[in-house]
Amino acid sequence: MSTIGFVLTRREFVVAAMAATLCRSRAASTPGDVDIVQFSDRGERQGTARVPKVVKSDAEWRKQLTPLAFQVAREGGTERPFSGAYWNLHEAGLFRCVCCDTALFSSTAKFDSGTGWPSFWQPIAEENVKHGAASSGFTPSEVTCRRCDAHLGDLFNDGPKPTGLRYCIDSVSLRFVKLV
Ligand SMILES: [Zn+2]
Repeated sequence: MSTIGFVLTRREFVVAAMAATLCRSRAASTPGDVDIVQFSDRGERQGTARVPKVVKSDAEWRKQLTPLAFQVAREGGTERPFSGAYWNLHEAGLFRCVCCDTALFSSTAKFDSGTGWPSFWQPIAEENVKHGAASSGFTPSEVTCRRCDAHLGDLFNDGPKPTGLRYCIDSVSLRFVKLV
């Protein structure tokens, strides 16, 4: 029996080595990866996972979202106060990104701000959102989803204890998952 079929020619060896190198570098990290803390629908923290950023064209987002959700989450708009589905919601659960499903906020940090927008004094995990320094209101600080860059709302420094922060978020950028 011959083993000749298992011997690589030099050219085949070079190609195989290059493929192995490519696989290794892809497994290590790509520029589009983000570290997100994952949560079950019961709100249980499941640890941090490195996941690819969610990037879609406007046409793809328009297909997935309602016109208002597209306008707010992808174009940085704002829903009218007291008009959204969640400003007056008091049920227990978590709020996921309407675009990419990343867990963003928990009902345990929700409070009545009187503004007509759902308001939270902290995100469910700092890793899952991006924001600048909290502002006093004259220079709003944008809050976005770390994984897909969806516009969520703005961060202010007039929230309740223990953080003193107010994440003022558009309902339409969120999807509520009720705790059952
Ligand atoms: Zn998202």
